[in-house]
Amino acid sequence: MAPGCTYNVLRNCEEKVVGGVSLLQRTNQLWKIYVFVGALVLGCAATLLQGFLYEPLGKEVAIKIAVAGMALIIGTFLWTGHSIRCPKCQRKIFYYALTQKGFFNCFAWLLQEETCPQCGQAEAPRTASRRRKTKGLKRP
Ligand SMILES: [Zn+2]
Repeated sequence: MAPGCTYNVLRNCEEKVVGGVSLLQRTNQLWKIYVFVGALVLGCAATLLQGFLYEPLGKEVAIKIAVAGMALIIGTFLWTGHSIRCPKCQRKIFYYALTQKGFFNCFAWLLQEETCPQCGQAEAPRTASRRRKTKGLKRP
């Protein structure tokens, strides 16, 4: 094996070790995604299944369940959007992902993204994140 090959293998390993942890994992916010998905599924189920509850529970109760389900969905969106933030610049990362990446892509992005899109926050600063930090400099 050529020496250059070994270097590349080592570099790949290092990349995986240093950069394998997402921003959410590192800032202990990953559980919020699970809460979000869980509440969303529950809210959707309550809203969609209310039609089946007409018979056994009566219309009024079924409508209450549907309204509660919708409130749960809205509340979950608001809570997640406000609580998942960059610890450094307070950027609402969940809202960013939702608006920039779309609903279905934002989860994959959130679970993979290693640095803050605004300030490049990363626990182990690398040259790439430093460069991004200076680009979005706001202080005089
Ligand atoms: Zn940030």
